[in-house]
Amino acid sequence: MSAPNSAATSPRGLIKLPVAVSIYKIPLLVLGTVFAGWQLQVHFQLLSRHTGVVAATVSLSLLVCLMLRWRSRLRRIHAQLEHYASRMGVPLPVESRGDPLARLESRLQRFSEEVIAETSALEYQAQHDGLTSLPNRSLLLERLEAALHQARTQYRSLALFIMDLDRFKEVNDTLGHHVGDRLLQQVGRRLESVLGDMDTVARLGGDEFALLLPGADRQRSQAVCRRILAVMERPIRIDEIRLRAGISIGVVLYPDHGADATLLMRTADIAMYEAKRKQQGYAFYRPSDDIQAISRLGLSADLGDAVANNELKLEYQPMVDVKTGRIFCAEALVRWCHPTIGQIPPEDFIPLAEQTGAIRPLTLWVIDRALEQVKHWANAGLHLCISINMSVRCLQDRGLPAQVQALVDRHHVDPANVVLEITESAIMSDPMTARRVMRRLSNIGFHLSIDDFGTGYSSLAYLKQLPVDEIKIDKSFVSQMDQDENDAVIVRATIDLAHNLGMKVVAEGVESTDVWDLLEMLGCDTAQGYLIRPPLAGKALADWISSSEWHREYWTPSPALETETV
Ligand code: C2E
Ligand code: CA
Ligand code: CA
Repeated sequence: MSAPNSAATSPRGLIKLPVAVSIYKIPLLVLGTVFAGWQLQVHFQLLSRHTGVVAATVSLSLLVCLMLRWRSRLRRIHAQLEHYASRMGVPLPVESRGDPLARLESRLQRFSEEVIAETSALEYQAQHDGLTSLPNRSLLLERLEAALHQARTQYRSLALFIMDLDRFKEVNDTLGHHVGDRLLQQVGRRLESVLGDMDTVARLGGDEFALLLPGADRQRSQAVCRRILAVMERPIRIDEIRLRAGISIGVVLYPDHGADATLLMRTADIAMYEAKRKQQGYAFYRPSDDIQAISRLGLSADLGDAVANNELKLEYQPMVDVKTGRIFCAEALVRWCHPTIGQIPPEDFIPLAEQTGAIRPLTLWVIDRALEQVKHWANAGLHLCISINMSVRCLQDRGLPAQVQALVDRHHVDPANVVLEITESAIMSDPMTARRVMRRLSNIGFHLSIDDFGTGYSSLAYLKQLPVDEIKIDKSFVSQMDQDENDAVIVRATIDLAHNLGMKVVAEGVESTDVWDLLEMLGCDTAQGYLIRPPLAGKALADWISSSEWHREYWTPSPALETETV
């Protein structure tokens, strides 16, 4: 961090100069007048004694006039100084008796000291972040430019990191901005702890930080990334709360990934986005990421037409009752087959749809098709309930419950057979509206489930205030719970607590029989995962169930089995 710069542009010199000039002029003028009178008398002998007296009187009067003028100018300077000082809120020493010049000098000195301090403070503020006291974007750019210049002339490399906290918005929304602010301060301190003398860590705004490592190559950057991830692993304590602030780091190197500051900042941003998307902690920039970022922009335009062009389809993943082994439900998962790119995973296009507003027609399309499929299955004797993902945007849309009701009415499906999955983060992004929309959906008769439970910061006790029937423990806790004791503890505690609060528990991401056995032992209600079946098309699911050991006893195929899929 740079110390406040005591700038050399002191206003002291500027103010002192005219005063000094006027002061030295006075004795010169007096001397000049007396000298002129004396010369007239001595050399030309034209003047009488009387004239001499007149000349002396004139000189004296002139002197008095000059003195008065001098005093009045001094007073004006004092007044001006007081005016500037009061505008700047600088307290000046009171006017006292004594040498007027010394007084002026002491007041000027005080004023200029204050101005210098104020200027330095302003300069510091303009270049630092108020919350964390770290350099801000403008100082980072200044240092990046300087480091680039040095790297060019000395043929050296440098690294630039852009870092973003994971799920910071949830901390702010759930625990309040004061906790969010303190989290940012502590993150700032932890990032500083991994710095070398020449490095700069800056806060770019919000939960975004940057790190400049002059002279760093790929190897050193990697080591620093690992150190950052390690220091962020330790929980951060804020009063009684312990938080784990995950971080995603995008890394770019000069000269490999760009030659100027603007390009490096942009590519580091893209790399950070990739690190976040892949949840891999850190990522070095790759030119292919850029192509993806550009194509993402193009995709958002195509997404608007995807429904109309029949490019979307649904797959269904079975959900099994752990106690009975019965498949009683299926989760509808949307797929997009882009005409030129091919299959695009929902994790890539759902966030896009949320940003562009395409999520509303997309969600209504999913619900419409899923209900149609439920009806097909039922007509064929397969009675499954359906679980449908609701995006964060849907919960902020007060008109949605009525539209969803219209769809169940149209398909004659009992809303009690429809589960709407809502992610924790969706509720937390606008709790008031989310709560209102959830109440209306629950009043219609839909079951509500909290998806990806455990990845946010909400507590079960908070969720209990909402009309929630079930929680789905996120697959990141489930898949490895037979090998990771921490995961097993979390799953066990969640199941116990949810049951105590009268909620059912679904475990997603069940990939092995060991995990299944553990879940059965812990009393988990429902399991979903590749062990049972990856998602598949509606007809394929019906065919599979009819031949599957998981379900055969509950399967009552109707003679006129419709094999049409939606
Ligand atoms: P999700 O709701 O958590 O869905 C479960 C995801 O986990 C699905 O990925 C599924 O294929 C995958 N999965 C299932 N079993 C296993 C397993 O045993 N192990 C592992 N590792 N993964 C498993 P998918 O289909 O790619 O969906 C990803 C996400 O996209 C979904 O996560 C959901 O958040 C979103 N999504 C999918 N369809 C829709 C939709 O119609 N509307 C909205 N709003 N979001 C959707
Ligand atoms: Ca889901
Ligand atoms: Ca999930």
